[in-house]
Amino acid sequence: TETPQESKERAKREGRPASKSLVDRQVVRIVTAGTLTEDNLLSARDNNYIACITETAGETALSWLELSTGAFHVQSLSSAQISAALEAVNPQEILLADTFTIESPPPSATLTRQPASLFHSENTKKRLQTLLGIETLDSIGELTRAEITACGALLDYINRTQIGKIPYLSPPERITGTGTLQIDAATRKSLELTRTVQGEKSGSLLATIDRTVTGPGARTLAACLAAPLTDLDKINKRLDYISTMIETQSLRDVLRQQMKEMPDMQRAIGRLTAERGGPRDLAMIRDGLAITENLRGMLQSNPQTREALSALINCLQTDTTITDLQDTLTKALKPESPMLARDGGFIARGFHPKLDEFITLRDDSKKIIAKLQGEYQDDTKISALKIKYNNVLGYFIEVPPKSADALMERKEDYIHRQTMAGAVRFTTTRLADLERDIAIASEKSLALELSIFQSLVQQTTALSANINLRAQTIATLDMISGLAHLAVEQNFCRPRLDTSTAFSIKQGRHPVVERALKQSAQSFVPNDAHLQNAQRLWLLTGPNMAGKSTYLRQNALITILAQIGSYVPAESAHIGVVDKIFSRVGASDDLASGRSTFMVEMVETAAILNQATPKSLVILDEIGRGTATFDGLSIAWACVEHLHETSQCRGIFATHYHELTALTARLNKLHCASMAVKEWKGDIIFMHSVEDGAADRSYGIHVGKLAGLPPAVIARAREVLDLLQTGEQSSTLSKLVDDLPLFNARPEQQKSASELEILLNDLNPDTLTPREALDMLYKIKILSQKQS
Ligand code: ATP
Repeated sequence: TETPQESKERAKREGRPASKSLVDRQVVRIVTAGTLTEDNLLSARDNNYIACITETAGETALSWLELSTGAFHVQSLSSAQISAALEAVNPQEILLADTFTIESPPPSATLTRQPASLFHSENTKKRLQTLLGIETLDSIGELTRAEITACGALLDYINRTQIGKIPYLSPPERITGTGTLQIDAATRKSLELTRTVQGEKSGSLLATIDRTVTGPGARTLAACLAAPLTDLDKINKRLDYISTMIETQSLRDVLRQQMKEMPDMQRAIGRLTAERGGPRDLAMIRDGLAITENLRGMLQSNPQTREALSALINCLQTDTTITDLQDTLTKALKPESPMLARDGGFIARGFHPKLDEFITLRDDSKKIIAKLQGEYQDDTKISALKIKYNNVLGYFIEVPPKSADALMERKEDYIHRQTMAGAVRFTTTRLADLERDIAIASEKSLALELSIFQSLVQQTTALSANINLRAQTIATLDMISGLAHLAVEQNFCRPRLDTSTAFSIKQGRHPVVERALKQSAQSFVPNDAHLQNAQRLWLLTGPNMAGKSTYLRQNALITILAQIGSYVPAESAHIGVVDKIFSRVGASDDLASGRSTFMVEMVETAAILNQATPKSLVILDEIGRGTATFDGLSIAWACVEHLHETSQCRGIFATHYHELTALTARLNKLHCASMAVKEWKGDIIFMHSVEDGAADRSYGIHVGKLAGLPPAVIARAREVLDLLQTGEQSSTLSKLVDDLPLFNARPEQQKSASELEILLNDLNPDTLTPREALDMLYKIKILSQKQS
């Protein structure tokens, strides 16, 4: 709709009084969470996707796009994969038919339900063709019916919310899922890839490895982390890029410095194509193209990057269309540009002669009037002649009465307007024209500026695809140089990947825990993992707090990092490409969907056992913990057997059920490892290192003591443990029940407490000699020791 100011201006242009005119109102856009493009409403470093999920003839498909950058994707899914895919894309808004139900959608997403008729496959196909402006869909590759529906319905919604002003969109890219490492929603959450379990960005893997210096670079890294690769060539290509950037350190530093200045061209072009852009967006393209060209020059002139990054450099090659545009924008725009075009004032002097004329007239009217006054003075030889202005007459010539006659005689040049007591007033055609020109100059200059702006927008958006490719290439360059920077800074190594089922990590580290420890000046203990050949499945035992979860996760994270084509936190890493990664670490309630902790654990475990293949990596922590001991042990037992015999995957299974270690006698690929601890004066010290062999016991009571459980509880727990370990189960239990701690532990504690109290009550510090005071101190110490 129009602002009151715009309506006033329009009324003025149309020559009618503003206050009485009807204001034309129409809906020009429907603002929704997933269709924002404004910089101030978006986070520069996060993607803002809108997704659409549809079901057509039993097939499910997910499409998603980002209006601000034009990225558009589509993927076919089984219904079981929906939550994993949504978790990976992490859309702000999900469009779906009102008849469609999805289980546990991402909590941050808005669900937009629409009538099912809008998801009709034939109609959406037609809409897709029309909106993409293509005759046949063959030109965008083979899409299934469900995929076409998902794309068509989404584009249709964009068209409806943007009221026909669809910004630049790439043709939908089909994601097949075969080229990416599959990570289900629970694994993604538990590994805290892009957000922590609490939903925070900081503390996630992404936040820890992100060294990008631009918003698009950060978004590209997030997108890569959401979909690690399985294609060896692509992975190695990225690793090669990173190696090159590591080797060319000084160039990398300069490139990163330059990229800091790089504006977000993708979002600028998105706004411009959606007719929502302003002069600042054009300036962003102008500056972005210039910096891109600089960066290309640097990459091209370095012999190493010229060779190794040739594919990237090729995407940046300039042609005349781009240089012409850059030239035009440089000449047309002032260095500093306003966000909105409507107030004008952004076109540089010298770009358009007519505009310059208007602006001169508008801005220099005083000078022009003074000049004209001089000309009239010369012409009439009346030095007292003045050009003045008032609201009634506008501009006029004023002369003293004694000089008026001379002008009265020149009627064709000087038109008499008014005679006053002390002055006579005239006008001329030139003065009247000038006055009109001055009055409309600002309006004309604004209108002309707006039409120049429109033409610049047109010239720019005509090259949207080209500009987007450049922007995306620089974003990739930013991601690669950021990962190279990280690798050097954090001492990461280049992983070796192949098609085997190898998994050999030497001195691996958990990047997030290592960073947290560094901040408190502690060092991380690196650990090996060799999950291959006769040791494909590891059974990891050890006390709580010894670092099991950290170790489990670090191996999963190293795999994910390797498969996004990044260096990894280890001394060396050899990984046979993993097809699916599963991690179930720690129990969590999913109260929102009505599942208890144990139920969630079992559902997730079932998914893992049903889907893991010999190429998968499975990380399981304390399966079966949430139920009765024997039930839990039995479930854990059966899971280990299944993983070993049926899934035949690589994996680490952390457990407190020491009984499971007996399985190594029968399962020849099962290997026992444990977290090393040392016992010292009744306390334990965590070594955080992984060693061969099973742990001798759980040390749970030691950990309880460390955590500050009351001493009486610790003592009693020790007694119970001793009895349980020695005795026969049923007789032990009845003995324990008969021997309830209430009857002996508490009174004793009270007695010793009161003894101490009595002693302290009777004490008069003022009368004590130093020797007595020292003796008293010893007494108090002995009593308090008795108490604990
Ligand atoms: P729980 O079973 O109670 O979850 P856990 O054995 O899984 O415990 P973690 O949560 O992995 O233990 O680790 C506990 C703490 O130990 C971590 O927060 C970290 O500070 C420290 N830690 C873990 N691994 C290492 C390591 N390799 N080097 C140094 N410190 C470590």
